[in-house]
Amino acid sequence: MKVGYFSGNGRGFAGAVFDDRVFDLSLAASRAVKPVISNLTALLAEERFDVKLFAELLQSEKECPEYWHRLEGLTFLPLLRPGKIICLGLNYVEHAREGNVPVPEEPIYFEKAVSAVIAHNQPVMYPPHLGRIDPEVELAVVIGKRTRAVQEAEAKTCIAGYTILNDMTARDLQQKDIRNHHPWYRSKSLDTFCPLGPWIVTADEIDPNGPLNIQLRVNGDVRQNSSTRHLVFKIPALISRISELITLEPGDIISTGTPEGIAPVYPGDVMEGEIEKIGILRNTVKKI
Ligand code: MG
Repeated sequence: MKVGYFSGNGRGFAGAVFDDRVFDLSLAASRAVKPVISNLTALLAEERFDVKLFAELLQSEKECPEYWHRLEGLTFLPLLRPGKIICLGLNYVEHAREGNVPVPEEPIYFEKAVSAVIAHNQPVMYPPHLGRIDPEVELAVVIGKRTRAVQEAEAKTCIAGYTILNDMTARDLQQKDIRNHHPWYRSKSLDTFCPLGPWIVTADEIDPNGPLNIQLRVNGDVRQNSSTRHLVFKIPALISRISELITLEPGDIISTGTPEGIAPVYPGDVMEGEIEKIGILRNTVKKI
């Protein structure tokens, strides 16, 4: 199931997306005397982001028109406010090669500030004095339960779902910081530099080891075009390795890295990150 967070008729609500229609899960929960579904952040925090709950709500009210919205009449809200956004560097072989660096033997982790998260269709704000900025399409895992030291074989049970993350990077700033032996944090964390969405696809629909096509288009031209089968470190291994040292909380994001094809974007450019079985995350670059 595709579950997003929307604004319509002056209220924010969680909704399940079926083609061009959205079922109002928040309204159905309130009428069914279920615990309230106010937003996806709270739902994840309570470890209640569960396809069985969504299916039950849908089943109870799906014939009733007042629970359905037209997708085109809704505004996408920022999907969730993660506790942390853990990103992977150089996690596709060809991306390491294009940067003339060795394929890592250990995962390379960095973090993006949670304040950088924006929704599908919201603009990425570009401060021109910072020089080059690049989009990076990535498959993002949403953690569904508190996880500490989990084995790879059990890692799947920690996943709430999957979405798309555009790891926007102020590249000149990042290179300056690398030259000075400083962390990448600020170049990855500018306001609006973390488009996330458009929705979460629930974990039952995607195999964490299965290959998914992944693509980035800029103004319709294909820039990145690969498959998650080229990930150096796969999702269960990442969850296991991270949780050995850092407790993963529900709502945390692990962004699995970007494939080759990195190039800059400019004001007015339309970026579309697309991942098979998930959908398209679209954002435009806007000059501040
Ligand atoms: Mg990246």
